[in-house]
Amino acid sequence: MYEKEYLMLPGPTPVPPRVLRALSEPLINHRGPAFKKLIEDVTEGIKFVYQTKYDVLVLPASGTGGMEASIVNFLSPGDKVLALSIGAFGDRYATIAKNYGCVVDKVDFEWGTAIDLEAVKAKLAADVKQEYKAILVTHNETSTGVCNDLKGLAEIRGNHPALLLVDSVSGLGVMDVRPDEWGLDVVVTAAQKGFMIPPGLAFISVSPRAWEAYEQSKAPKFYWDLGSAKKFLDKGQTPVTPALPQYTGLREALKIFQEKGMEFMFAKQLYLRDMTRAAVKALGLKPLAEDAIASAAVTAVWAPEGIEAKAINKKMREEYNVVLAGGQKQLENRIFRIGHLGYVQHLDILATIGALEMCLQELGYPVELGQGTKAVQEVIMSRKGII
Ligand SMILES: *Cc1c(COP(=O)(O)O)cnc(C)c1O
Repeated sequence: MYEKEYLMLPGPTPVPPRVLRALSEPLINHRGPAFKKLIEDVTEGIKFVYQTKYDVLVLPASGTGGMEASIVNFLSPGDKVLALSIGAFGDRYATIAKNYGCVVDKVDFEWGTAIDLEAVKAKLAADVKQEYKAILVTHNETSTGVCNDLKGLAEIRGNHPALLLVDSVSGLGVMDVRPDEWGLDVVVTAAQKGFMIPPGLAFISVSPRAWEAYEQSKAPKFYWDLGSAKKFLDKGQTPVTPALPQYTGLREALKIFQEKGMEFMFAKQLYLRDMTRAAVKALGLKPLAEDAIASAAVTAVWAPEGIEAKAINKKMREEYNVVLAGGQKQLENRIFRIGHLGYVQHLDILATIGALEMCLQELGYPVELGQGTKAVQEVIMSRKGII
């Protein structure tokens, strides 16, 4: 392909050129000293991005494999869990637990809203025998562009013994997450969202409390056995053949986080979110999520009355090479989603909004060219020198 493509998805996300180069290094022996150094570097880098001192393990999996690992390592069939869902990925987490025989008490919140902490508080208070073994929660619900308040949730859990298991596949590295400080027992993420490398690796952090639960877990496991992964990591290896190119790519991507610092990376994400939302609103469109709960990774937008979301995405892709995501399940064809996490920069947003204006105008939506891009430019100008 000669034409430049704008991959504005909430995963997979674009890969920086220096990471692409690192992905093509020659293969090495995965049981030798070079790999030992590689996995040590990578583990240290992931801990930096996770802002944690807990154990962090790398799994040969997509994000869903990491989610499955978080169930089979810390729970047993028959365990009662509280699953909080605000969208498609919250539903998936509950399904994984159910398929492994957990007794799932699922609480659904309206898509486009965040979990209601008061409702969770009431659920935990009603659990007088403290039977819930875990609370399952999505940090950043990619299907709706809503971010849950993990710190608040951990505070509400208080002294309840339930483990807090977090799907932060699209949140980690994008928004502030502090496993140790907040008390998040297990946090799962994946390579192709905030980490700027291709899909195929999942990461999982494990608190000391979660390791205690691991000792009690009776769920069947082999490929996902984190105890085995930890034993091998201590020798500088992995239980099975690792995806070697992914590791060299990851080491390079992690260097970017280390060079820039997490404060910068989080601020950059908020900056991209704010300019996207400012533009969408300036165009007279409505984001699905309210400002207070808006994701820094992805912005979901209602298609205007009378225009199909799919028609917008099709036109964007065919005429301008801008790739947007659509809506999932009940939001199919009703919303479009602009991913702005990972290797995305301000001028990518400017280009996307510029193309969006042209598409909307041709689809019959009343918009003046420049109406949205001006809003993006104003945010860029207002933060000059800060970002
Ligand atoms: C992308 C995503 C997943 C699934 O990840 P895969 O890599 O496709 O398995 C899970 N949860 C959330 C919140 C996601 O954004």
